[in-house]
Amino acid sequence: MQWIVPLFDPDLGVEEEEALIGVIRSKWLTMGDRTSSFEKAFAEFTSVPVAIACNSATAALHMALAALEIGPGDEVVVPSMTFVATANAVRYCGATPVFADIESLDQWNVTAASIERVVSSRTRAIIVVHYAGYPCDMHEIMALSGRLGIPVVEDVAHAPGASIDGKSLGAWGDLGCFSFFSNKNMTTAEGGMVTTRRPELADRLRWLRSHGMTTLTLDRHKGHAFGYDVVALGYNYRMSELNAALGLVQLARVSERNAKRAMVVGEYRSRLAEIPGILVPFATHRGEPAFHIMPVLLPEGVDRNAVMSAMRDAGIQTSIHYRPVDTFTAYVEAGLGPSDNVPLSHVVGERVVTLPLFPRMSDDQIDLVCEALRRAVSAAQPGA
Ligand SMILES: *Cc1c(COP(=O)(O)O)cnc(C)c1O
Repeated sequence: MQWIVPLFDPDLGVEEEEALIGVIRSKWLTMGDRTSSFEKAFAEFTSVPVAIACNSATAALHMALAALEIGPGDEVVVPSMTFVATANAVRYCGATPVFADIESLDQWNVTAASIERVVSSRTRAIIVVHYAGYPCDMHEIMALSGRLGIPVVEDVAHAPGASIDGKSLGAWGDLGCFSFFSNKNMTTAEGGMVTTRRPELADRLRWLRSHGMTTLTLDRHKGHAFGYDVVALGYNYRMSELNAALGLVQLARVSERNAKRAMVVGEYRSRLAEIPGILVPFATHRGEPAFHIMPVLLPEGVDRNAVMSAMRDAGIQTSIHYRPVDTFTAYVEAGLGPSDNVPLSHVVGERVVTLPLFPRMSDDQIDLVCEALRRAVSAAQPGA
């Protein structure tokens, strides 16, 4: 399908090409100088002491929970309004995800109150997601975390470069997990980063990333080490030098691109206000968001499939972020859903449509999307 307006359009150019050629010519393909430079630059960008590159945010989330020693019998609070990987990471550890609801039909993030409603004596961690790049209320959530003595993992997949009061998301919680998948605000094709403000977790995270081994291939290559021990049950979650080289180029641009996303969202908001019945969430927000996606809530009773089909026929790609995790077959069959705790997430899950958003989107493209949406919604009214 050749879209007139695609859902996303990654910014990749000559600098990325040259970065990749440089890696090939260096003949060192994984866990080398580019990966350590990317980690150092990302730690500075996020103002955390430790940033560990890995091959996805899913791996980052798994490592974060494993570093906190989450295991069977433990519960971890997660939003239902997220990508399934957030909750899957809990299950990889043998623990039980317990779903927390969004605040309202306008604010689609979990809150300290919605988390506290589902905390039990078995809760060992809380994962928050900064949905669409809009910051959760980290002041309140960290106050709750301190009061209950339960660590917080931030899923920052939507929000690299976002902040509250000048402090980056990913630096508030005990650990932060970032994604560099191809449709995220910055990409390494596939890739992730786990950050932590707790330097004592760094060794364990490094062991988890690479088979529990105590020395790196690079150190042995350089003659700094000969043997190694295996001190933990690790995985292979390493990042390649190709991905890290892309990450260095993309990181240098992410703030500028987030600013462009902010302008596109501003244009969208003023146009969408003219379409009867369309609710654009996060009418207000805290901090500096990263504007990852452009979700809207359709009016009640409107046939969403009909709207999305009409948009497709007009050459406009849309998506759904998200079907609530607790409603998926694999969660229902495991006895983990559907959850009675997340009614608002279920309402959003039925009515959300995600519109195209990328930094270089033109005003003409925004007009096309809004006009197609206006027509599609008026044709898909109940009884129309
Ligand atoms: C994309 C995404 C992930 C998973 O990221 P990968 O790098 O593809 O593993 C996790 N959580 C959220 C909220 C995401 O959007």
